[in-house]
Amino acid sequence: MPLYEYQCDECGEEFTLLQSISADQDKTQCEHCDSTQVRRKFSSFASKVIGGTPKTSKPVSEKDYPNQDVFKLPIPRLRSEL
Ligand SMILES: [Zn+2]
Repeated sequence: MPLYEYQCDECGEEFTLLQSISADQDKTQCEHCDSTQVRRKFSSFASKVIGGTPKTSKPVSEKDYPNQDVFKLPIPRLRSEL
């Protein structure tokens, strides 16, 4: 479900709503003054979050590092242990 960003024409406040694509924009109310005079704005933030990561991306693991030796190095001691 996409996240939509609205701006209220009545009070000027901006807010975001999670709505289905078929949601009726005319019935959307301002969170602050309950006005229905709201305008949907394009939300680039939402598209990034909702879109998620590409399917090709996966969590980085040791195998993704070309130099495996880096994992064999001793863990540096804390300064207080010296
Ligand atoms: Zn408002």
